Amino acid sequence: MSTNTSPQRIAVIGTGYVGLTTGASLAHFGFDVACCDIDERKVSMLQQGIIPIVEDGLSEMVADGQASGRLTFHLGSIESVSSADVVFLCVPTPQDDDGSADLTYVKLAATEIGPHLRPGAVVVNKSTVPVGSFHLVGEALARADVDVVSNPEFLREGSAVHDCLHPDRVVIGAENPDAAAKVAALYESLDTQIILTDPASAETIKYAANGFLAMKISFINSVAAMCEQVGADVAAVVAGIGSDGRIGPQFLNPGPGWGGSCFPKDSRALVSIARERGYDFSLMRGVIDINEQQYERMVSKITRSTGRFAHDRLDGVIVAALGLTFKAGTDDLRESPSVRILRDLERRGATIQAYDPTTVGDLDEIQRARLSGFDVRSSVLDAVSGADVVAVLTEWPEFSEIDLPKMVEVMRGNNVVDCRNLLEPTVVKAAGLTYDGVGRS
Ligand code: NAD
Repeated sequence: MSTNTSPQRIAVIGTGYVGLTTGASLAHFGFDVACCDIDERKVSMLQQGIIPIVEDGLSEMVADGQASGRLTFHLGSIESVSSADVVFLCVPTPQDDDGSADLTYVKLAATEIGPHLRPGAVVVNKSTVPVGSFHLVGEALARADVDVVSNPEFLREGSAVHDCLHPDRVVIGAENPDAAAKVAALYESLDTQIILTDPASAETIKYAANGFLAMKISFINSVAAMCEQVGADVAAVVAGIGSDGRIGPQFLNPGPGWGGSCFPKDSRALVSIARERGYDFSLMRGVIDINEQQYERMVSKITRSTGRFAHDRLDGVIVAALGLTFKAGTDDLRESPSVRILRDLERRGATIQAYDPTTVGDLDEIQRARLSGFDVRSSVLDAVSGADVVAVLTEWPEFSEIDLPKMVEVMRGNNVVDCRNLLEPTVVKAAGLTYDGVGRS
């Protein structure tokens, strides 16, 4: 078992949002990091210094790591793990059909690297996995001389580099204190608290954190719905409750509903983990239901803005969508509320013209599949041209600077539905447009 608390060589399995940012950060801290992936195209791009994702500051940090020789990229992981002191698992854990987390990638990666690990190596699981998966990783590795440590990741897409360099905390769940110390040593240079705990608690912390944040958003979306009925302004309510230290202002922005690669699958996995252990996590089920209703509320707002009833068909209606990603600052379209809402409108007959700053130019294969059927355009004005209604669906700052008079000129209709409360209602109305936001009186 591990005793050395100063690991130097690190292998990272999976170079997605988490793996690439983790690998680049660890190289930035001074460690030798080999980042491995099975995606040939991704590895080839990274070897040439091309970053396959949009993440502020990541290309600079990767370039620094490559220039220093501390950060390298490899197709396959066997060679890299055989010389690593610590191996990070950063592979996907998508949602299975029944809402539980699909651990196929984690099991495959662990089974593959197991025979090639150095004696005394530590395998750190950063993938979000259900409570108890710690043991499952150990079983798949089949190595009594290797420790497994749970080290959940809390970075937010869009500020992943910042979050890795300035985390609110680092959580390390381990049975062996030496292995925990070895992982803690990797974060020594950070000015943050390190929470040492057992593996089950570490795994629970990750789900509980995401579940709580999703709950905050669903809560404020419900409050926003209420504000519309009672004539209150949700911004004033947020200022009023967010200033209470017990509540805090973060994650209280009303919007089209939460989405992305984590909240939807993790909230469902939390319900599923609880159910398997005989507990009905009804609060979390409610949080998910409210989010589904929020998508429907946005669809109905967009429909009604065109003068139709909420459930009417939309044949012949052109909807201009501003924003496709699940939030600003990322190119991630996974479980994007925008795409989900637009699919509903499309099913009811609407034509979708869309613009997003991350989908300008040739779309890659994944983007093409996720956006099939939408007319993806290369500028805001292009997207709103001929539209009956403009729906602001992602909070990209550039949308708050739209040239409204020009927009009025090129639109066919005159309706704006601001699902992110990004625009100033009085200014929009002064330009001759109708305005509907979320929870705005
Ligand atoms: P991702 O899909 O962006 O990247 C995963 C990468 O792993 C892919 O490049 C894939 O090719 C690679 N991969 C799969 N199997 C492999 C194998 N056997 N060997 C080498 N590479 C392999 O995923 P992500 O968003 O980085 O998420 C990874 C994990 O971290 C998930 O469990 C997720 O829930 C969790 N997480 C994600 C975020 C986030 O914001 N994206 C935040 C915190 C935690």
